[in-house]
Amino acid sequence: MRIVGIEGTAWAASAALFDSETGEVFIESDPYEPDSGGIHPREAAEHMGDAIPEVVSTVLERAAETNDGDGAGVDGVAFSRGPGLGPCLRIVGTAARALAQTLDVPLLGVNHMVAHLEIGRHGSGFDSPVCLNASGANAHLLGYHNGRYRVLGETMDTGVGNAIDKFTRHVGWTHPGGPKVEEAAAEGDYHDLPYVVKGMDFSFSGIMSAAKDAYDDGVPVEDVCRGLQETIFAMLTEVAERALSLTGTDELVLGGGVGQNARLREMLAEMCEQRGAEFYAPEPRFLRDNAGMIAVLGARMLAAGDTLSVPESAVDPNFRPDRVPVTWRDDEES
Ligand code: ATP
Repeated sequence: MRIVGIEGTAWAASAALFDSETGEVFIESDPYEPDSGGIHPREAAEHMGDAIPEVVSTVLERAAETNDGDGAGVDGVAFSRGPGLGPCLRIVGTAARALAQTLDVPLLGVNHMVAHLEIGRHGSGFDSPVCLNASGANAHLLGYHNGRYRVLGETMDTGVGNAIDKFTRHVGWTHPGGPKVEEAAAEGDYHDLPYVVKGMDFSFSGIMSAAKDAYDDGVPVEDVCRGLQETIFAMLTEVAERALSLTGTDELVLGGGVGQNARLREMLAEMCEQRGAEFYAPEPRFLRDNAGMIAVLGARMLAAGDTLSVPESAVDPNFRPDRVPVTWRDDEES
């Protein structure tokens, strides 16, 4: 089975071809990079309008090349239906509907956060892991129960990457801030910041204000970055451990762009080792937003007959992962 995936929830205009026979995932991405400030929804949508046709064309050329010149040889078109920025999602949805109708193949509407989880399950071969999604606009723990991925814990305010990016905007660094914080933290000494975990949920807004205040009071930026990483990642690790304990699961997968941070992966790996659990982090191209994960989940959905008609294919900027009926797993996988 060969599936084209299209992603464009926020910053990555991305298309991919997944071939389930060979396992190959070909990804073509074009990132939106704001000149200043954070992601501006209108500018991001303009980027999608320009870049999505380009990345899709490249992937279709690849599809034709790898199909012995016998047309595209594509069995379905999967797209990110949400959550994400509405103006961006609408462009992705329009492109996917047009492509599916042109190729005369089924349309597959994928939840972006479930795709972050499923690419980890795909790569690890784990049956029923807990997933920590640490991305720009989100931060949550997911676990499977009775046909759905349940949200076991989540942020009470901003996503984890967005919180880090707000601090880096304050100190004048360009977007995205996460990699710059990782680099600066390597040179810094730990600076104490508020640690906010409430039950299974966490909050980042107070830490961000304290980090900005510390920087304004003259604490070296490297020290604030070190404190930020240690504090935020310890919070995520604590709740991930509690989610493993609560569900009795011994498999953890990581999803989302913040998962590219080596210190976060180190803390999660150490926690899993201490409790005898297995930990899997996908390679970076599958952690940050990418159409490969959309195509891979799309293939599973097509195999399960979970397709969408055009009239029911509206995008949903607030599409929560626990609203998705998980049609592609056997019940015994619970
Ligand atoms: P979502 O998947 O919730 O829609 P998103 O669209 O913002 O999130 P992602 O690609 O998952 O996109 O994550 C982007 C975020 O990852 C940004 O906030 C960025 O600063 C952060 N990030 C990237 N690299 C690192 C790193 N090395 N350390 C920490 N954060 C990082």
